[in-house]
Amino acid sequence: MKAIVCVKQVPDTSGKVAVKENGQLDRASMPAITNPDDLNALEAALTLKDHTGCEVVVVSMGPPPAEGMLRELLARGADRAVLISGREFGGSDTFATSQIIAAGIDEIGVEKDDIVFCGRQAIDGDTAQVGPQIAEKLHLPQVSYVTDIKYQDDGSLIVTRALEDGFMTVKVETPCLLTCIKELNEPRYMSVPGIFECYGKPYEVFDYNRLKDNPLIEDDTIGLKGSPTNVWKSFTPPQKGAGTMLEGTDVAAQMAQILADKHLI
Ligand SMILES: Cc1cc2nc3c(=O)[nH]c(=O)nc-3n(C[C@H](O)[C@H](O)[C@H](O)COP(=O)(O)OP(=O)(O)OC[C@H]3O[C@@H](n4cnc5c(N)ncnc54)[C@H](O)[C@@H]3O)c2cc1C
Repeated sequence: MKAIVCVKQVPDTSGKVAVKENGQLDRASMPAITNPDDLNALEAALTLKDHTGCEVVVVSMGPPPAEGMLRELLARGADRAVLISGREFGGSDTFATSQIIAAGIDEIGVEKDDIVFCGRQAIDGDTAQVGPQIAEKLHLPQVSYVTDIKYQDDGSLIVTRALEDGFMTVKVETPCLLTCIKELNEPRYMSVPGIFECYGKPYEVFDYNRLKDNPLIEDDTIGLKGSPTNVWKSFTPPQKGAGTMLEGTDVAAQMAQILADKHLI
């Protein structure tokens, strides 16, 4: 049994966000962190490992410096790391990214009882498309926005997912893919023995040559050529003017008056 966790390295947007003159995110000048939802995905996999002893494999597609993040995830308890990296993969949109990651997961192998865990959404690209697209490309059943997982003896899962106005509980057979949100769990920290062990654990790089014979990889399914979407324009929205603070015990009446003056009510 394996838990495969997809993890993206992202710029830390909690501090000052640097934007280049052309409107693109200046990734190089911002610290890189593990995408927050992906730590919840890893925690779900490590909890499963605590109960079953399953192998936890972390997978990331990104440039070579992502090795540091993957070593940290090995120190948190993952058993094996795979970095998918190559110039041929550059310029990929979400469709091509999920195609390449699906090929990497296919090479690792998905068998009965295995679970692929993703975060719901990356804090830089923000599309929440990659997890569901990987599931489609690997023909796996998927459950998104997962807040609770109960493992059944027959290998199936009872999974709760968050909806806009409530929750939904579904049964899903394995192998499957789950996209996780922060309400699922509290990610653990690295342990001191984990830090010592992380450089001895298996670490592999899947480059283009390693993946090119996988049936999911064709030159027109990866990189810019395999990307059906284009970034047309990127810009920072103009700052809004300062707001008006209403004070006193009758703010509702004041608000109603302002809206009436503007003929909005
Ligand atoms: C036309 C176009 C060109 C682009 N060119 C580039 C480029 O040249 N360089 C570049 O860096 N980006 C590029 N991007 C952005 C890139 O496509 C996205 O960063 C990537 O597809 C992930 O999408 P997202 O950030 O919205 O992830 P989401 O779909 O929000 O992520 C959901 C989950 O999927 C998993 N996941 C997502 N990405 C990865 C990953 N890389 N590795 C492992 N797991 C992952 C994680 O579990 C994550 O929580 C481009 C996008 C477009 C539209």
